[in-house]
Amino acid sequence: MYQDYTHEPFTDFTVEKNREEFQLALKLVESELGKEYPLIIGGERITTEAKIISENPSNKEQIVGAVSKANQHLAEQAMQVADKTFNTWKKWRPEVRADILFRAAAIVRRRKHEFSAYLVYEAGKPWKEADADTAEAIDFLEYYGRQMLGLKKGFPVKSRKIEKNKLAYIPLGVGVVISPWNFAFAIMAGMTSAALVAGNTVLLKPASTTPVVAYKFIEVLEEAGLPDGVVNYIPGSGAEVGDYLVDHPRTRFISFTGSREVGIRIYERAAKVHPGQIWLKRVVAEMGGKDTIVVDHTADLDLAAQSIVQSAFGFSGQKCSACSRAVIHEDVYDEVLEKSIALTKELTVGNPVDDTNMGPVNDQGAFDKVMSYIAIGKEEGRLVTGGEGDLTNGYFIQPTIFADVDENARLMKEEIFGPVVAFCKVKDFDHALEVANNTEYGLTGAVISNKREHIEKAREEFHVGNLYFNRGCTGAIVGYHPFGGFNMSGTDSKAGGPDYLLHFTQGKLTTEQL
Ligand code: NAP
Repeated sequence: MYQDYTHEPFTDFTVEKNREEFQLALKLVESELGKEYPLIIGGERITTEAKIISENPSNKEQIVGAVSKANQHLAEQAMQVADKTFNTWKKWRPEVRADILFRAAAIVRRRKHEFSAYLVYEAGKPWKEADADTAEAIDFLEYYGRQMLGLKKGFPVKSRKIEKNKLAYIPLGVGVVISPWNFAFAIMAGMTSAALVAGNTVLLKPASTTPVVAYKFIEVLEEAGLPDGVVNYIPGSGAEVGDYLVDHPRTRFISFTGSREVGIRIYERAAKVHPGQIWLKRVVAEMGGKDTIVVDHTADLDLAAQSIVQSAFGFSGQKCSACSRAVIHEDVYDEVLEKSIALTKELTVGNPVDDTNMGPVNDQGAFDKVMSYIAIGKEEGRLVTGGEGDLTNGYFIQPTIFADVDENARLMKEEIFGPVVAFCKVKDFDHALEVANNTEYGLTGAVISNKREHIEKAREEFHVGNLYFNRGCTGAIVGYHPFGGFNMSGTDSKAGGPDYLLHFTQGKLTTEQL
C-alpha cells in the first residue's frame, strides 16, 4: 500500500543549511552550462546540425544548453516509434506504470535543488519559485501514479441478475504533449506523466526557451525504468513540428498548455479529419488568463495588498494565474493602492542566482510585449511605480503598477504576462464582480473580504475555474486545488485533480450475459 498523498513541502530558505545546499546546486548546474543535448526517439540519441540555443534570460551571454532540433522528418520518425510502442506499452499493468512515476518522483526528490537550479538558469526563476516548480513536478508524479491505481478499478456500474457489467478505462494512443516555458518542469512533467501512466505513448515538444530541464526529466524517466519509445523527446519549432504533429492522422490526442492564440490554432487544426485518420482527436488545451483580485470595503487591507503584490509579481507576473487586475471598492482604494506601492518598492529585481525577489522576463519577445503594454498603460492609467526595463544583461522589467485604469481599458482586458498590474476603482461589490467577469478569460480570481454575503455571492457569480478567498490568486497545489479555467482560458481539464486522467483514456463497457 502507498502512503496517502500529501504535497511536497517547500524549502525554507531562511534556514542557512538549505541556502548552502541550494548554492551548491547552483554551482553544480553552472558547471554543466553550455552542454549539447540530443533528441531522444525510441531511446536513441539523435544529434542534429540545427540547434535550439537555450539562453539564460538573466544573462544573455550565458548558454544553458544547445539542444538538437527536430524537423518534420524526425517528428515523423518519432510518431512511428510512438505508434508502434503503444501496442506494447498499453499492455503494461497500470500499477507497474504507476511505479515508474513513483520512482521518478523519488529520483527528482533526491536531486530537488539541482532541478530547481536548472530553472533558475533556464527560466530565470527566483529560488522560491523554482523550488515550487520542482515540488509541483514531484506532486504530479506522486498524484497521477495514485490516481492510476484508482482508475484501474474502473467505476462501478449496475448489473442485472442475468449479466455482469464492467466499465474500464483504456488508453487512447499516441499523444502530442506541447508544454510552456513558465512552468518548464511542473507542467511539462505533469502533462507527460498523466498521459503515460494512463497507458499512452508521448511525443514531447517542450517550449523552445526551456528544453534543457525537459531533457533532464526524460533522463529521470529512463532511470526510473520507462521503456524506450514511450516518451520521445522532440524539441523543435512550434510552427513546424507542432503543426505537423497536430495534423498527423495517427495523433490520437493533444495535450497543450500555452497561449490562447496557439491553443485556438491547435483546437481548430485538430478538428480537421485527415486521410487515414479513424478517430476524432481529443484536445486538452489550457490557455491564458486575466486574473483579478477583488477587494471589498470590509477587507483586511494589509492582506489585500500582500495578496495583490505577491500574485502580481511572483515570477515576474509570468503565471497564467498571476493577478493583473486589482478591482477595489472606492472606500478603501487609496489605502490598498498605497500599501501595494510600498510593498512593491521593497522587491529586489535582478539575477535570481543571487536570490532576488524578481528575475527577468522570458526573452526579447516577452520583454518587447510587456514594454509595449507599459507604453499603453501610460496612456490608459497613472503610472505609480515601476515602468522601467533594462536590457543590459538580461530581460529585466521593474514591477509596475498603473492606478485609475478604466474597467474597459486594454490593460484590463488583455493578457500581458509580465510584472504589470492595473488598479481599478469600483463603487460597490456588484460592480466589482461585473468588472471581474468582463474579460473573455476565466482562469483564477480572488476576493478579499470579511463579509460572508460577499464571499457567497462571489462563489456563485465570479466565473473562474479557480476562485480563492482571503488569499492571493496563484499557487494552486496538486491534489488540493485542481487547476483549469473557463472560457478562453481553456478546456478546464483540472490538472492535479481527481478526474484529470480520464482525459487520456476512453471508457469501455463490457457486458457478459450470465
Ligand atoms: P505559447 O507561445 O503558446 O507556447 C506554448 C507551446 O506551444 C510551446 O511549446 C510552443 O513552442 C508551442 N507552439 C507554438 N506554436 C505552435 C503551433 N503552431 N503548434 C503547436 N505548438 C506550438 O505559450 P508560452 O509563451 O510558452 O506560455 C505562456 C502562455 O501559457 C500564457 O498565455 C499563459 O497564460 C499560458 N499558461 C496557461 C496555463 C494554464 O494552466 N491555463 C499554465 C501555464 C501557462 P515554441 O516554444 O517552439 O514556440
